Amino acid sequence: MYMTKRIIQTAPRIGVLALQGAFREHIEMLYSLRVDAREIRTPEELDQVEGLIMPGGESTTIGKLAASYGLLDSIRSFIAAGKPVWGTCAGMIFLASEVGCDQPILKVMDITVTRNAFGRQRDSFEQDIAITEINRVLGEELNALFPAIFIRAPIIEAVGTEVQILSTLPDGKIVAAKQGNLLATSFHPELTEDSRIHRYFLTMIDPD
Ligand code: GLN
Repeated sequence: MYMTKRIIQTAPRIGVLALQGAFREHIEMLYSLRVDAREIRTPEELDQVEGLIMPGGESTTIGKLAASYGLLDSIRSFIAAGKPVWGTCAGMIFLASEVGCDQPILKVMDITVTRNAFGRQRDSFEQDIAITEINRVLGEELNALFPAIFIRAPIIEAVGTEVQILSTLPDGKIVAAKQGNLLATSFHPELTEDSRIHRYFLTMIDPD
């Protein structure tokens, strides 16, 4: 209840990178939280928002399109200015410092990512994961699991010392992490009815 009030009062403008992938689903989730959500395709549009979500999709395509729209340096400057950026799935790959293959990435978050880490046998699956720290920040019940949807998902193989691990699978694979104003999840919260990760991202937006 408190969170909802705060969002209405501050009405943050959040951009969703809309080059390819599941951007509409993020916009719908943000609308349901009464956020002023906007599709971002140009550096000028990025200038108008206070936070950015980079969706899942195909990271090679997103990277190439971002480069050709002149967005690589704009997103890096946006991050350097302290504005929050969240990458889901392909968006997380796009944030990484290392992905083990040659494709345009931002190299802004100190994480090493492996693409398609679950192989063909497990192309897509849903698993309940622990998000204790996120629940703590939101004031939700600490042990309430999150229904995470993984689609040809990447995982985080290694993190730098500045990175806070927010969630792992039972086998220890890292699937959510935060580094300062950067948030990365290997799954797709925008495809669920559960708004907790979106609400957590909103807590990272500076209310001023
Ligand atoms: N496997 C995709 C990639 O490497 C990511 C999948 C997704 O975003 N759902 O870009």
